[in-house]
Amino acid sequence: MLKLEDHIRLIPDYPKPGIQFRDITPLLANRVAFNIAIDKIVSEVTHEGLDAVAGIDARGFIFGAAVASALGLGFIPIRKSGKLPGNVISESYDLEYGQDTLEISIDDVEAGQRVLLIDDLIATGGTALAALKLLKRCELDVVGASFVVDLPSLGGSKKIIEQGTAVSSLIS
Ligand code: IMP
Repeated sequence: MLKLEDHIRLIPDYPKPGIQFRDITPLLANRVAFNIAIDKIVSEVTHEGLDAVAGIDARGFIFGAAVASALGLGFIPIRKSGKLPGNVISESYDLEYGQDTLEISIDDVEAGQRVLLIDDLIATGGTALAALKLLKRCELDVVGASFVVDLPSLGGSKKIIEQGTAVSSLIS
């Protein structure tokens, strides 16, 4: 029986000393592992009555777009700043060193849409929380957030749950 966690590669000291990076590239490259991951996310959300899937730049696009396609839904990209043309709103968040900013195109969403948020991994939750704020500022109903990997000791998933959004993950 295939175990998804066997397809996550641990890279010590990447991108800087002291960080244990979880590399999902082997999971993407393995057709069985990748499709099991997509099927598992889909099977957990089909009952939700979703209108769209939102994914976070960049690895959240890979899983989010595949899940959206499997569910027959559209996809909302939440991008790093400066990448989306047109009318956007922005949300900045703190990184270990410095800040980053996410943006959403406000012309391509409708208030009241029921949305699932997807990213590859949640650690401190700063990224997912910023994405959640953007979706809520657009008056979207975020019915859940799904991650391939959750690192619960870093507290991110707890922060999302505290915002009233259900969290699911494939590997914890
Ligand atoms: P957080 O904001 O601390 O929760 O970090 C999560 C974000 O950083 C996600 O968008 C991930 O893609 C990325 N990230 C952080 N750590 C890792 C890792 O070990 N492997 C892959 N992505 C990571």
